[in-house]
Amino acid sequence: MSEIDRDQYLIKDEPYYRPVQNEVVMYEAAYDARMPVMLKGPTGCGKSRFVEYMAWKIGAPLITVACNEDMTASDLVGRFLLDINGTKWQDGPLTVAARIGAICYLDEVVEARQDTTVVIHPLTDHRRQLPLEKKGELVHAHPDFQIVISYNPGYQSLMKDLKQSTKQRFGALDFDYPSADIETEIVAHEGHVDKATAEKLVQVAQRSRNLKGHGLDEGMSTRLLVYAAQLIGKGIDPQSACRMALVRPLTDDPDMRDTLDAAVNTYF
Ligand code: ADP
Repeated sequence: MSEIDRDQYLIKDEPYYRPVQNEVVMYEAAYDARMPVMLKGPTGCGKSRFVEYMAWKIGAPLITVACNEDMTASDLVGRFLLDINGTKWQDGPLTVAARIGAICYLDEVVEARQDTTVVIHPLTDHRRQLPLEKKGELVHAHPDFQIVISYNPGYQSLMKDLKQSTKQRFGALDFDYPSADIETEIVAHEGHVDKATAEKLVQVAQRSRNLKGHGLDEGMSTRLLVYAAQLIGKGIDPQSACRMALVRPLTDDPDMRDTLDAAVNTYF
């Protein structure tokens, strides 16, 4: 549809992304096949940054939707709105992406209810169609349209998981926190700190990751390490920076907090 400004969804500047394995090559092949892709991994390990980087590299528009449990199918597909001239149809982000040939990135898709998630089904098989039932229109996806979802297997519970019929529509790439040397490089670059400081932050994080399942739901993410580095870069002393960016966001439990503070103090 000509009235949608496709260019606004293009990523103009190269996002910084440090490849970890063969994910760039794998994604490019999947994109060439317009295969739906699932990025699996813990929060803050680089999934969203990777999609931004790939969209930039390919030159494809990117439309990102942060999923949540209150989201309805209409939030994705679109709805009629009332204005002074009567009712007017407004496309949702999924419909816009299908029309203009964008990569549609559904972040944390498991947060959405299953009856919402199923609207993507006809777009993820050979049909590549999106029925707008309320409007009485069948949208045929643009040849460049691709759907990408992120999924954190750690959150898996009986209440919140993707149906097999949804999962089995995607090729999946595993993400995890990078190895210490790569993560150090990322933290130094993104947080504008020297390598020695980044290295210590990564060591603190690795300690916390060993506590996953032993009082912590998740270890410290790369994102939090970047936050800590940024505070240190602003002149905050490392212990306070780590308390604010690494320890307090992770846990409310006083014992666990003391354990993590002690880990920080052994490095800084
Ligand atoms: P996710 O989508 O997995 O929750 P993000 O992509 O938002 O996580 O990553 C969080 C932050 O970590 C990014 O903003 C970036 O600063 C940093 N980061 C993580 N992995 C990488 C990587 N491989 N290359 C560059 N930056 C990274």
